[in-house]
Amino acid sequence: GIAFDGEKFLRLDEAKVPLEDRAHQFGDGIYEVIRIYQGAFFKLEEHMKRFERSAQAISLTLPYEMPKIVELIEKAHELSGLSEAALYIQVSRGAARRDHPFPDAVARLTMTVRPVKTESTSALRHQGQRVKTTEDIRWSWCYIKSLNLLPNVLMKQRALDEGFHDAIFVRDGLVTEGTSSNIAIVRGGTLYTHPANQSILHGITRQVVLELARELCIPVVELAFTVDELKEADEAFTMSTIAEIVPIRQVNETYIRNGNVDEFVVTRLLQKHFEAQHRGILMK
Ligand code: PLP
Repeated sequence: GIAFDGEKFLRLDEAKVPLEDRAHQFGDGIYEVIRIYQGAFFKLEEHMKRFERSAQAISLTLPYEMPKIVELIEKAHELSGLSEAALYIQVSRGAARRDHPFPDAVARLTMTVRPVKTESTSALRHQGQRVKTTEDIRWSWCYIKSLNLLPNVLMKQRALDEGFHDAIFVRDGLVTEGTSSNIAIVRGGTLYTHPANQSILHGITRQVVLELARELCIPVVELAFTVDELKEADEAFTMSTIAEIVPIRQVNETYIRNGNVDEFVVTRLLQKHFEAQHRGILMK
């Protein structure tokens, strides 16, 4: 893997950042994860727009103009020499003596590029996952892609320890999203997913899936659903940049459609068209 430490490109295992960077001490920063398929960035512009929105939402001034950031991103990818990869980019409020008020420091932009293990994610996409619902204990600005992922990390680990693949957050009785994905159900041929408000991250994959659904004439309703509605759905799936579209075969102790994800016709159709899109195959 390759890294950018805010000043220069170097090998990932050689990269270092200062101990008093506010990302370490306060989680004071934002990030993006962008997928590279067959040597090309997928939805780079959408990710960069969200990156700008996240920065603005926490009153963080990016250290460079967007064209310069895109140049750095492309350079990092080029130096990595990787064709199936993920680029992680973060901006912190810089390094300064530990104190809560914003420092005078210049924001620090760092990046890593690593290969993506396609085998493990593709197995889950075929077989589906088991998820556990859990109280959404996060703050109420979940639309910001901030570095503060402790609730996500804790709930993911708890779910894994209990033999599930992931945890699904529930706020006020309504399903919001996964620990690192958005979630949708299909009922009576209609796709339901939580509206893109402050309670969820506005996933790029979610956006792509909704566009695909509309093209395929699948009715879409951006409306939150309950845990019971999730359990009783005809189909359910999560969506994210790294895992892509993953069917949900089990919620807590309940199987969706007897756990038979191959009967998830809408999910399978969306998976097929999503893959066609990132593989650059024209579907008309
Ligand atoms: N929701 C959360 C909490 C996430 O962390 C992520 C991504 O990791 C997503 C949703 C999916 O977003 P995207 O499709 O842009 O990767």
